[in-house]
Amino acid sequence: MTRNILATVALVILGACIARAGQITVIHAGVLIDGTSDTPRRNQVIITKGQRIESVSDEASAKIPEGANIVDLSHSTVLPGLIDTHTHIFLQGEVPAEGGYDIQLLKYPLAYRAARATVSVKRALDQGFTTLRDLETEGAGYGDIGIKQAVDEGIIPGPRLFVVTRAISTTGGYPLEGYAPEIDVPKGAQLIDGPVEARKAARQQLEHGADWIKVYMTHRSWIGKHGELVSQPTLTLEELQAITDEVHGWGKRVACHAYSGIGLHRAIEGGCDSIEHGLDLDDAAIAQMAKQGTWYVPTLAVYYGDWAPENTPDGQRDRKRASVHEESFKKALKAHLKIAFGTDIGGIPWTEPIAQEFSYMVKFGMTPMDAIRSATSRAAELLEQQGQLGEIRAGAFADIVAVDGDPLADIKELERVRFVMKDGKVFKGEAK
Ligand SMILES: [Zn+2]
Repeated sequence: MTRNILATVALVILGACIARAGQITVIHAGVLIDGTSDTPRRNQVIITKGQRIESVSDEASAKIPEGANIVDLSHSTVLPGLIDTHTHIFLQGEVPAEGGYDIQLLKYPLAYRAARATVSVKRALDQGFTTLRDLETEGAGYGDIGIKQAVDEGIIPGPRLFVVTRAISTTGGYPLEGYAPEIDVPKGAQLIDGPVEARKAARQQLEHGADWIKVYMTHRSWIGKHGELVSQPTLTLEELQAITDEVHGWGKRVACHAYSGIGLHRAIEGGCDSIEHGLDLDDAAIAQMAKQGTWYVPTLAVYYGDWAPENTPDGQRDRKRASVHEESFKKALKAHLKIAFGTDIGGIPWTEPIAQEFSYMVKFGMTPMDAIRSATSRAAELLEQQGQLGEIRAGAFADIVAVDGDPLADIKELERVRFVMKDGKVFKGEAK
């Protein structure tokens, strides 16, 4: 009897899998921005089968399979699912009135943080972000691996995740800070001193499933004697090289937080694959990044809100950061650096629109189409997922979103995503 029940259950599950694998959906796209082309195309038909896109063709020549699900987006602009390459699903803003950063590590149980991370990933998916590179858990250990597993198994809705686990910095190079020296407080990253500890931390994180490794190459920042932005370097070149050597040997990549100066130059020299923030990119840094093909993930928007009062050292530093950042972004555009979309959301509350970053990119001189590509095909290239993600073309994963208006005319349209498909499954919106 038990055996019969088991056999029946197995058959039902198998049947569901087959149905899922073969499910066909036909999307009528009024305008299609495919993630790679320079110009949109009108009246396109996208056919998805299971998790993948099977074909993309003109409405006139499309063969519509019988019995398919039909999604009418003929009055919408259809794009590839968006990719944010710099998020923190375990961080819930750093608003001082809510206890800032520290309370999250000191007072929130891990299960509570995981529950909120579950909400974060759902919010990202609802806003059309079907892939995230999540750049560390801020003291929540390997929690990102668990959230990723739950998403992959379909237990919770969320984007596909590329995760880094704990991140690496040095003693004196990451919060929590400012407590009595007699008290042991948790740290938001794994702290190392010396190349041996550096390599070991990378190995531990990779062993437990990190897709990327994140390194903090600068920490505090302030205004220097000549009015310039100064940032404190953290890892030595030798420490960083131990990490990049190890990680590259595993066929994986290293993302480096770096603001300016010594730490930024060590990051580029030491083989970081992406520079995060890069607030003050001097000419030598830009030249070396261009030569090495180093990615730039600027995360602009996060530096334009929440400034300290103007006549305080912190307030002046915040304003300086923003002004040099704008210049760096413009110089990076001119030098044709490889730029990927990233927001640092989590550092800002998850209630803010992720897509607000696009407005800053466009305001500082990027074309709307390039801004879209930075969050689709170019971000996929950073993740070594070319042809799989960030494109609407046959063979790619069926990660597809839509907005009502024209994002090339008003980039803010991307803050109003109304349809979301991931892996061929519709998570938001129906036909109009
Ligand atoms: Zn960050």
